[in-house]
Amino acid sequence: MNVHVQGCPVVANDLPKPVRRESGQREVFCGLTGIVWLHRKIQDAFFLVVGSRTCAHLIQSAAGVMIFAEPRFATAIMEEKDLAGLTDANDELDRIVVQLIARRPDIRLLFLVGSCPSEVIKLDLSRAALRLSQKFSPAVRILNYSGSGIETTFTQGEDACLASLVPAAPPTRTSEDQLLIVGSLADVVEDQFIRLFDALGMGRVQFLPPRNTAGLPEIGPNTKFLLAQPFLADTARALEDRGAVRLAAPFPLGVEGTTAWLRAAADAFGVAPALFEAVTQPYRIRAERALVRYRDLLGGRSIFLFPDSQLEIPLARFLSRELSMHLVEVGTPYLHREHLAEELRLLPDDVALSEGQDVDLQLDRCRAARPDLVVCGLGLANPLEAEGMTTKWSIELVFTPIQGYEQAADLAELFARPLVRRAKLVA
Ligand code: SF4
Repeated sequence: MNVHVQGCPVVANDLPKPVRRESGQREVFCGLTGIVWLHRKIQDAFFLVVGSRTCAHLIQSAAGVMIFAEPRFATAIMEEKDLAGLTDANDELDRIVVQLIARRPDIRLLFLVGSCPSEVIKLDLSRAALRLSQKFSPAVRILNYSGSGIETTFTQGEDACLASLVPAAPPTRTSEDQLLIVGSLADVVEDQFIRLFDALGMGRVQFLPPRNTAGLPEIGPNTKFLLAQPFLADTARALEDRGAVRLAAPFPLGVEGTTAWLRAAADAFGVAPALFEAVTQPYRIRAERALVRYRDLLGGRSIFLFPDSQLEIPLARFLSRELSMHLVEVGTPYLHREHLAEELRLLPDDVALSEGQDVDLQLDRCRAARPDLVVCGLGLANPLEAEGMTTKWSIELVFTPIQGYEQAADLAELFARPLVRRAKLVA
């Protein structure tokens, strides 16, 4: 469901690059959307949304086109009648969970996912998770997080989910430093990174989220973690509370981002520069070659990124530095100054950055600039297309494997495709 908030613009100059800060009406999906990719990633988990019919429709329509097997998510609809008493609502929730676990013995991890209808806000899902955990432990672990659309954007659902997993992770069993990669990656991308870390001689690498509950990573003061996604502020904080240390790096998008991301880990684990060079060079060369044709297509073209997925700043860095695109404006829903510091340094000095959104003002700026390509949410794409602009849905960038060397050209292709299609239409 889209969220509308009113406010006024502010310009913040506390960064190396000035940022226009807006807090007006915004158009974003809520955190429930994260279930669409998270349920595919953690294969023995189930996501039970505690919400309204609107939440059920959102999840069904967002995930519907991608479901080919029995889904591992559902919505417990809290009707008005359930609200007569909270006891009734809690009993109803317990009844649904008991039924679900009896029907699906493969579930090892159950997330109760909160939403924003007022009737759900009144329910204490953390107490419900505790109560139900006592009933089903150790066979099923029950956790909770919020996917509410109030003041959040859709990728924050993953952040809330991963942050809820951190306290459930066991402590580290050895004193040796361990690398933890944090953020959902497609399995194929994860496997590529495992091969690279292996070749660099870095030993065991763990991932959060894991592919199944048994693979929950060990976490402790000897954990060094690399963020694979730029929207994981709460998860990073929860890891730091367990003593883990974040390795500062750009994000693994494009050849440059992937190399710098891998290098941050290699340096922290004492990998010799010569070995790093020898291992990564063939991948870099291949990926750079694959990008040439896209640079020919996209070089010099202008692009406007509306705030949506929080991937906008790393994407802008890739588009500008590796594909020579001209950045008209780079919007992001939230700007985590610390986690994005390495990215911001790589953006052009005169880049127009904006944080938050006042959608009407931003649309005016976009129309005035008439960029060659606009990256935006689904709600803005259709009206802009109707005005003759070429758009790319930002949500596709979250669903598609785009990280790492072997995906660099695929990432470029996602931006080239709408331009090629438009060119064919007008020819
Ligand atoms: Fe809509 Fe809130 Fe449900 Fe999201 S959580 S679908 S914003 S009602």
